Amino acid sequence: MTTKSRKKIYEGKAKILYEGPEPGTLVQYFKDDATAFNAQKKAVLDGKGVINNRISEFVMTKLNNIGVQNHFIKRLNLREQLIREVEIIPLEVVCRNVVAGSMAKRFGLPEGQQLPRSIIEFYYKNDALEDPMVTEEHVTAFNWANTQEIDEILAMTLRVNDFLSGMFAAVGITLVDFKIEYGRLFEGEFSRVILADEISPDSCRLWDAQTGDKLDKDRFRRDLGNVIESYAEVAKRLGIMGDMPKVIEGGITS
Ligand code: ADP
Ligand code: MG
Repeated sequence: MTTKSRKKIYEGKAKILYEGPEPGTLVQYFKDDATAFNAQKKAVLDGKGVINNRISEFVMTKLNNIGVQNHFIKRLNLREQLIREVEIIPLEVVCRNVVAGSMAKRFGLPEGQQLPRSIIEFYYKNDALEDPMVTEEHVTAFNWANTQEIDEILAMTLRVNDFLSGMFAAVGITLVDFKIEYGRLFEGEFSRVILADEISPDSCRLWDAQTGDKLDKDRFRRDLGNVIESYAEVAKRLGIMGDMPKVIEGGITS
């Protein structure tokens, strides 16, 4: 990749967005920075960005193949991918299959309890407000999305959940829950909702189906250690660790 200066559009907690080579495109750069609890806890995890870039590429490509339209165009290098620029809908869409994290806390339920059906929750994406949970009423009343967009988001999220649950189950991993973001892709005056951001061990809860071991960001949140090793284990089971260069393995073991 050339080092010609590019316009930085946005720097978030885990990624940086740069202006893309063509209008309507962006370059998404995956950092090694890890944050939790609304960025109160921070660390740098060597190699995380490389693994998440690769896992997100793999998942988005598979989703595209089954007709779940998303922003991914192609991976450019170890840490960067070319994406379609969208107008992000300011919602964190969470889909849960098993009780964990904030759901366990909020409802006083034991982590690991299977839910009777998949549950989708909306959170308003706003760090200053600590991403409060909202209902569809808030979403439409505050014009974050209209009812048709909400319907599309719900239908797409269930498809993503079904596909990912099967994909991970096939490699001995339980998809406990995940967070995704959507955005509007404009074609003239019309827009459609597509999947954006990333899907990685930063945004999913992934438990080893046999042992229950956590293979996701909870290892960082809860100081369980072996964070990168666990992310690499997910990549390995998906069969994509072979694509990862030796330098990264160095980063992982260092
Ligand atoms: P944050 O700290 O806000 O979560 P991240 O570090 O995750 O930020 O960086 C990614 C940012 O880019 C997020 O704010 C996300 O909403 C946004 N984003 C993701 N995909 C796209 C896209 N295709 N077009 C525009 N913005 C996007
Ligand atoms: Mg983010």
